[in-house]
Amino acid sequence: MKIIFLDIDGIIKNPTNHSEWFSDSIMLIIDLCVRTNSRIVIASNWKLLKGTEFFNSMLNGMVIGATPDIHAPAAEHCKELEVLDYLKQHEVDDWIAIDDRAYEYPRTAHKLVLVEGGRFTNEDFNECLKRLL
Ligand SMILES: [Mg+2]
Repeated sequence: MKIIFLDIDGIIKNPTNHSEWFSDSIMLIIDLCVRTNSRIVIASNWKLLKGTEFFNSMLNGMVIGATPDIHAPAAEHCKELEVLDYLKQHEVDDWIAIDDRAYEYPRTAHKLVLVEGGRFTNEDFNECLKRLL
């Protein structure tokens, strides 16, 4: 199975407004899953607040879980640790990460699609498509 490790804030949600979700970005992520036969694993602190059902209700059932919560010293902590741990525990054929912070993926930058426009756009979609097809 192909996995998309998905950040939330700055990707499908306004980071400074907790009720503003970007429906266009959400539709693009769903379409990406359908077109590439991929599934989503939540890689965001939102995983601590909301469960898989919450995200599945907006992402059309494409979410299969979240990365484990690893406690590491702040200076060493990054999402990559949790993604690598998830990959150790699950059979994954290929993967990408979608995030707006490059420092979360210091050793696996080649797997990161960096979203720089404040939300997931068509351009980001095309880059993800290229990586996952
Ligand atoms: Mg973010």
